[in-house]
Amino acid sequence: MDLHAKTLTELAAGLDSGDYLSVELTQALLDRIAAHDEKLNAMITVTGDEALAAAAKADADRAAGNAGTLCGLPLIHKDIFCTRGVRTSCGSKMLDNFVSPYDATVVERLAAAGAVMLGKANMDEFAMGSSNETSYYGPVRNPWDLDRSPGGSSGGSAASVAARFTPAATATDTGGSIRQPAALTNTIGIKPTYGRVSRYGMVAFASSLDQAGVITRTAEDAARLLGVMAGFDERDSTCLDEPVPDYAADLGNSIKGLKIGVVRQHFDEGLDADCGARVREAIAALESLGATAVEVDMPNIDLSVPTYYVVAPAECSSNLSRFDGVRFGHRAKDTGDLFDLYCRSRGEGFGDEVKRRIMTGTYVLSAGYYDAYYLKAQQVRHLIADDFKRAFEDVDVIAGPTSPTAAFKLGAKVDDPITMYLNDIYTIGANLGGFPAMSIPCGFVGGLPVGLHLVGHHFDESALLRCAHAYQQETDWHTRCPEGFA
Ligand code: GLN
Repeated sequence: MDLHAKTLTELAAGLDSGDYLSVELTQALLDRIAAHDEKLNAMITVTGDEALAAAAKADADRAAGNAGTLCGLPLIHKDIFCTRGVRTSCGSKMLDNFVSPYDATVVERLAAAGAVMLGKANMDEFAMGSSNETSYYGPVRNPWDLDRSPGGSSGGSAASVAARFTPAATATDTGGSIRQPAALTNTIGIKPTYGRVSRYGMVAFASSLDQAGVITRTAEDAARLLGVMAGFDERDSTCLDEPVPDYAADLGNSIKGLKIGVVRQHFDEGLDADCGARVREAIAALESLGATAVEVDMPNIDLSVPTYYVVAPAECSSNLSRFDGVRFGHRAKDTGDLFDLYCRSRGEGFGDEVKRRIMTGTYVLSAGYYDAYYLKAQQVRHLIADDFKRAFEDVDVIAGPTSPTAAFKLGAKVDDPITMYLNDIYTIGANLGGFPAMSIPCGFVGGLPVGLHLVGHHFDESALLRCAHAYQQETDWHTRCPEGFA
């Protein structure tokens, strides 16, 4: 079997038994990226030399009996994570020239475990988008149909895993950016509980919603990586000091008796009927594995999208004020006074969607509108979180569709922000309440992948991973590979 087709877990076994070296594996994947990425545009930066050096070190460590848990295993980082000495663009012209002086905690922990970074993945600008079309570096194409979007904002991470450039990629999720691209590319995407993984060194979009996670092809691989990434970090004051379970060891436990809540409001007229059918079949498959499904009612869940589009822009308008053309990032040429420097640097450095969010955010936070919009949105956010908490008194996980449709054509929604925002209608609630959530490949509609969405109670990523693993033992959707990328 070709190395690129193997999962992280299979590769770990191959490296352990000496079937190949990490240097060989790394070179094979770099060659694959070089051969195929022109079609996809999934990568912003490929770090070939650094990757081969890290692989050589991993091989030496392994030979010396010092192999970490991810020793010599390849991965790609979303270009939102700071990487020391390597450009960290966040998909923006603003940071096109930014070389980070330090590593994000996620990057540091994965590297310390021996992982080899192949490069940095394309993404929507500052993670604002659902199609990867807001990237300064151009859209990413979906390996399942090159005329379609892989979703966003972690479109590069998802496309690179789907196209077998890498068995795993890091990603981030503020309203759905790990899960929606995972659904649209037939990959697994997990967003842990808010506070589970450190946000230190992850460029901030909306700090109370942002969370780092991973995209892989199997639950087993996701568990392996999450175990390394998760855990307290004193450099992020919102990172919680909670013990991290052994996700990988937990995977084998049965889902017999697990109670699944199916949200009534998530099977409404907005959902493509065929996608809905795939999701219902997946829930039935989980039932046949011993779980029971009951309908749950979430009366406030329909307010998720409008609530999010007040809270997220408000936080982004504050976070992005740091990009002023003075300390780092893009600086306009030949400016007059300081105000002119700020205005032109920001005017040139940010794209349209980012500006739309900053303007919306500034508006909802302004003195005259704060109570009407921002305060109201924070109140509704609590109601939505309470809907989940009430449901979790009865059920262990909540299941439904990840996305209302399968992958859509590039260009189809760019001129219609509201339609674009509705992509995340089923995913945003988990961010507003800080709950862990995941998308799992669950079938196809017209040759395009569909995702099953699972939400768990705070800190119960294990329940999601266990469900996904059990489902993947019984189904083979996740093993299907897009034509031309086998
Ligand atoms: N698509 C949503 C947005 O545009 C979510 C993005 C994300 O999760 N980073 O804000």
